[in-house]
Amino acid sequence: MNDLQEEQYKLIKKIDLLNNSKELNKVNIISILLFIMFIFITIIIFFLITNKNISFTFHILDSIIFLILLVVIFIIHELIHGLFFKIFKKEARIKFGYSKGMLYASNPEGIYSKKQFIIISLAPFIINTSLLIILMIINFHPAIMLMIMGIHFSGCAGDFYFVYLISKYHSSIYVRDTNIGIDILEKD
Ligand SMILES: [Zn+2]
Repeated sequence: MNDLQEEQYKLIKKIDLLNNSKELNKVNIISILLFIMFIFITIIIFFLITNKNISFTFHILDSIIFLILLVVIFIIHELIHGLFFKIFKKEARIKFGYSKGMLYASNPEGIYSKKQFIIISLAPFIINTSLLIILMIINFHPAIMLMIMGIHFSGCAGDFYFVYLISKYHSSIYVRDTNIGIDILEKD
């Protein structure tokens, strides 16, 4: 980023997910809570629909489909982040990586409006969940799709946490993507 751009923005808050273990722990706790919530809701819905307990029979082939699709869904997740980083900023140079148990897509130093950053954060959750629901409806290994949906939902904890943090600020703020998290900025 050049000096001119730097001068236009004032840093309000720096959020470090990579080195700040307190922030990282929060995300992990949210992730676990989301997973428990998902299982709980799923059991209730199943019970209401079928009036029976849930039973899964799992074959080797199911495990293979499960593992492959799980990896694919998380790769798609990061690609969707990357795609939206690019849609909102044509010159964006997207970086994909893996750190501390998390896959990530980032556009280091890219600055986005609050609304844009919320869309970038939530798009993978919305698109992937819709995709998995469609696969369930067409009866493509519905039990596996459901499990992947739950794991993916809890994997979106970091995205939800960013949206939660951003939502506390006025709509005129900007969000800068950094290598370690995000910066909340204000235009001077
Ligand atoms: Zn994400």
